[in-house]
Amino acid sequence: MTHPGEPHDTAVSSRLNWLRAGVLGANDGIVSTAGLVVGVAGATTATGPVLTAGVAGLVAGAVSMALGEYVSVSSQRDTERALLDKERAELAQFPEQEFEELVALHRAKGLSEATARQVARELTDKDAFAAHADIELRLDPGELANPWQAAVASAIAFTAGSVLPLVAMLAPPPSTRVAVTAVVVLATLATTGWLSARLGGAPPGRAVVRLMAGGALGMAVTYGVGSLVGTAAG
Ligand SMILES: [Zn+2]
Repeated sequence: MTHPGEPHDTAVSSRLNWLRAGVLGANDGIVSTAGLVVGVAGATTATGPVLTAGVAGLVAGAVSMALGEYVSVSSQRDTERALLDKERAELAQFPEQEFEELVALHRAKGLSEATARQVARELTDKDAFAAHADIELRLDPGELANPWQAAVASAIAFTAGSVLPLVAMLAPPPSTRVAVTAVVVLATLATTGWLSARLGGAPPGRAVVRLMAGGALGMAVTYGVGSLVGTAAG
């Protein structure tokens, strides 16, 4: 019996996956935009270049994340469709063999010959294609991956993450903006690290440290490079 909220409850686990993907997408936005604006702030105290770089980085990052998701989920869906088409053709061409295969797969799950045959019969009568797609391919023909949904979700997550370092950089006066951004970004990464670990059922400690260390390193390196380039540009 499935208890609502338990991990094997498919609706909940798919929502958890989406949420976790959203947090990871937001992390990308936070780290890459923070690195960008901190780097430019290392080169100049003027607000214009920081704003331009931040907004350009946000848009470029959101588009590339969306494109990446669209391409990868589209090819996953193409593979799923090809597998389903092949299964549908086999079902039409070899209905008896396919039925025996369904029986054998239920036998392999531990059912007796009679029960496996009964189950296969009832599933075949109800929807043979869905039964084969489920047991052989672990696919629900009505629930294939949607590339547009994935693309839009990752663009939104990246944008939401990017807005934070951008505002943290532009709100305070130039003398404190880098320090404020660093504190805000590290506090946010600690929160998202904790959240994504919890969503994945993992202990949060290491995830938080990893993410904060990575974010701090990213900002430190870009700030250093920005300062060097700024000095050199004079
Ligand atoms: Zn089959």
